[in-house]
Amino acid sequence: MENEKSRAEELKEKLYLKSKNAYEFCEKEEIDKAYAYCDDYKKFLDNAKTEREAVREAVKLLEKNGFVPFEYGKKYVTGDKVYFNNRGKAIYIIVVGKKGFEEGLSIAAAHVDSPRIDLKQHPLYEDGGMAFFKTHYYGGIKKYQWVTTPLALHGVIVKESGEVVDVCIGENDDDPVFYITDLLPHLGKDQLSKSLGSAFSGEQLNILVGSRPFDDENIGEKIKLNVLSLLNEKYDVTEADLLSSELCLVPSAKARDVGFDRSLIGAYGHDDRVCAYPILTAAIECSKSVPDYTSITIFADKEETGSDGDTGMQSYAFENMLNELALSAGANPRVMFANSKCLSADVNACFDPNFGEVYESRNAAFINKGVAVTKFTGGGGKSSTNDANAEYVAYVRKILNDGNVLWQTAELGKVDQGGGGTVAKYIAELNVETIDVGVPVISMHAPYEIVSKADVYMAYKAFVAFFNR
Ligand code: MN
Ligand code: MN
Repeated sequence: MENEKSRAEELKEKLYLKSKNAYEFCEKEEIDKAYAYCDDYKKFLDNAKTEREAVREAVKLLEKNGFVPFEYGKKYVTGDKVYFNNRGKAIYIIVVGKKGFEEGLSIAAAHVDSPRIDLKQHPLYEDGGMAFFKTHYYGGIKKYQWVTTPLALHGVIVKESGEVVDVCIGENDDDPVFYITDLLPHLGKDQLSKSLGSAFSGEQLNILVGSRPFDDENIGEKIKLNVLSLLNEKYDVTEADLLSSELCLVPSAKARDVGFDRSLIGAYGHDDRVCAYPILTAAIECSKSVPDYTSITIFADKEETGSDGDTGMQSYAFENMLNELALSAGANPRVMFANSKCLSADVNACFDPNFGEVYESRNAAFINKGVAVTKFTGGGGKSSTNDANAEYVAYVRKILNDGNVLWQTAELGKVDQGGGGTVAKYIAELNVETIDVGVPVISMHAPYEIVSKADVYMAYKAFVAFFNR
């Protein structure tokens, strides 16, 4: 009897898939490393709240590590480290490996745009003794989350001369912040009877930007004039210059440790900087000893609105650059693409017991269980997804296990509960084996999202293992 039991135990040990928690999987030193790594990640989050800022931070870090701008027509050879800055909003980073381009590339792609509140082109108006900005939200937001919370103004105003004026107000402790109003509960009877999705309309998300009139008795719209006059003083711009601006409101809160044990990070825009930062730092780390395969690290723009546009992942800018890279070296780009492998580095939903009913707990990602591998995304009957090939899943499995990476598989939620996508399918369309790998996020797309430090570090380790394949 005893023997039989031990055989069953043995068999279970052999046959069952084991799931581990990072705090069992890692030695204490590795957890310490993870927390230290995340201190730098938090700085990156605070300095890179928009795609332009993320690209700027990346360029800084790359140049410090010997990377130089990509040049068309140049033949790149083993050990070269270059980056292609696509209009300051997306970046493609190349580390030329030991093998020829036709043997394929190791591509990791994250996006650096996050849901936010964009300004319209005619934003400024005065009403009820206050000045406001009209807005158009960007990406999938739950509108009620963005009211009565401090917001910072980020972006650029471009003058007719082409001069680009950088704007960032609300990040320094003594900066003013901006605000979207909500109704007091005392008068909320009608509002509170509405559904969560319809209680706030897009046109209600107006930003409060001032209330002090310009000191002149005889002029109309004194408050609007005063705001314009302050903008003019600070940036030398007029209302017409706002026509050619890209300004947005993002939460002004800084990234912070969350919990008594500091095991979590709360921040705006983990989706998808929590993958962008690991792929960037992994690419730089792996460039120090030249990898076998050429690595391509992508910060993409416009993922949250469908990856369209010249800086989105569907833009030919990326494909053109890679064609050029191959052709300049006498390689066939079609062969290069066919032999390439990609980790689409994007987040997945982390199981949240407070909303457990939308997850299928046997296939959901859990906090502290490592980086999540998502075979397919999409919605309904797996529509609009890159469903990775089993052969490629096996290949990635081996890389992660050989690299001592704690990982788990994940599905976004219950079947037919909703859905979502990533840039994976646009890279797969180039005839590149692709799968989603990223960090599980709690409260995704909220103004303040949560991730686990151990999971962030496992993402970094996963991308290092992939680039060093
Ligand atoms: Mn994402
Ligand atoms: Mn997203």
